[in-house]
Formats: sequence, structure tokens, C-alpha cells
Amino acid sequence: MVQQLKTLSELRHYVNAAKMQTARIAFVPTMGSLHAGHLALVTEAQRQKRRVIASIFVNPKQFGPNEDFVSYPRDLEGDLNKLKSAGVDAVYLPSVEDMYPTGFATLVQVSGFNNILEGEHRPGHMDGVATVVTKLLLQVQPDVVFMGEKDFQQLQLVKRLVADLSIPTGVVGVSIVRENSGLAKSSRNAYLNAAEREIAPSLYKTIIEVANNVMAGGDIAQAVQEGKDALLAAGFSKVDYIAVCDPQTLELADRLGDKPLRVLAAAHLGKTRLIDNVTV
Ligand code: AMP
Repeated sequence: MVQQLKTLSELRHYVNAAKMQTARIAFVPTMGSLHAGHLALVTEAQRQKRRVIASIFVNPKQFGPNEDFVSYPRDLEGDLNKLKSAGVDAVYLPSVEDMYPTGFATLVQVSGFNNILEGEHRPGHMDGVATVVTKLLLQVQPDVVFMGEKDFQQLQLVKRLVADLSIPTGVVGVSIVRENSGLAKSSRNAYLNAAEREIAPSLYKTIIEVANNVMAGGDIAQAVQEGKDALLAAGFSKVDYIAVCDPQTLELADRLGDKPLRVLAAAHLGKTRLIDNVTV
């Protein structure tokens, strides 16, 4: 059984003991319902021969009032088995009450990142992410944290806040793990019905198309518009955004320069909201 740390004091005890043994700690934060994408983060963490701590915490602060916090897929037993098979050393399982006790009043806000793309379409989401990641990094005190490029904006936001707050943790981004169809693995894919599963891979195909058009010197605004039209034609009900951005600041790009760009997208398919991104 993977060692379970259910409270902050259990975590602190574990971390202090690990540091006494001069173990270096790698951290993989998740919201559970684990799949091959999460396990790729664990594999990367293990390659560095560190003590690997994962966390499972469905963070209420990053869900809007009309979002899927209550219905978000949860499978603690399955997750613990997967983490054990993957060879994780310990899993931190804080409760909501432990993370946000009565009177909790602090919000971490990373300006420039909190009100664009995901932040624009999910008000409060990025602040919720910034707040919980800050707390988790201060609690776990890892040498390095592994996060997926699947949530590209989240990854860039964490890099920014770790630098801004002088948190002594390296941030490593891990490539997106996809299904054979190209669909990015996601816990929310469980919401898709059979017909939607057929349509869902067109999100990836479409943003590749946008990236190719931009690479070929096409007008960015036109490439984006064609991408949105393609998603709606494929059966997506709503496109929140397709954006071609600077990969660090996520500022919108108006032309292809010397640096690679990133195409990011979010779109609704039935009741499921999917996100994805590719490099240009
Ligand atoms: P989540 O449980 O959705 O909050 O994700 C936890 C971590 O796993 C985040 O750093 C995600 O970016 C990462 N992740 C989720 N899906 C994938 C994927 N398909 N490929 C790579 N990383 C992923």
C-alpha cells in the first residue's frame, strides 16, 4: 500500500523525516481520477531518483459555482492502486477543511494570467489554482514539482508565481499524453458518451491545423476563425477560445516571429468542456 498522509501534520512529519535522510522530494499534484497522463508525471519524477509524493485534492476554489465540483470523477481506491503500481512513495490526501479552515482569507492572484483564456472563461479558476498550488508547495516543500502541459496556462502561471514568490521549487512541464485518436487524456473524458468520443479528437486535429496554417505564414486571425468554424462543424456546441500565444506570457501573438508560439483551445462538447494545446 502506498503511504497515505491524510493531514498536514502527517505530511510534515513525513517531509521532515525525508529531509533528515537528505532525500530530495519530487511532487506531483493532482485532483485524482488518475490516468496515463498523471502517471507520466510520476514516471518523470522517478527518473530523477527522488522521493515522489503525489497529492489528490479536488480543489473547490478552482471550480465556478455552475461547474462540476460535486460531480467531478473521484476514485480513491483505484487511484491508490495506480500510485502503488507506479511506485509513488507517499500520497497526500488533505481534506477541504484542512486546506481551507474557517476564516481562511487569502487569495493568490497572478495578474496577466488570471483573466485571460481559462481565467476569462472560468472566472476565479486561475486564482483558485494559484492559491492551492502555493499552499501545496509550501506544505510539501518539494525540490521539484511536475505538472502537465495539458493545462498549459496553469503550468505557465505556476512558473511565474514560483519565481515571483521565491519558492525554492523547480517546475518541470511534462508533454501531453494522448489517446490513439489524438484526444488528450483527461479525467473529464469520462463524461463523454460514445458519439462525443468520436467527435472529441477533432479538437486536437483542429488546433494542429491552426498551427500548420500559422507556420505556413497564414494570417493568425483567419487561422483561428477557420479553427472555430471547423470545431462547430465537427459537432462542438461552443468554442470558448482558440488562441495563438507567446508560450511564456500567453500574450496573444499577431504574427509568427523567431520564437515558437502555442495554440491553446477550449470548447464544449455536450456537457463536457475540453481543453488542449500544441506548439507552433
Ligand atoms: P488534474 O488532476 O486534472 O488537476 O491534473 C493533474 C496534473 O496532471 C496537472 O499537472 C495536469 O496538467 C496533468 N495532466 C492531466 N492530464 C494530462 C495529460 N493528458 N498529459 C499530461 N499531463 C496531464
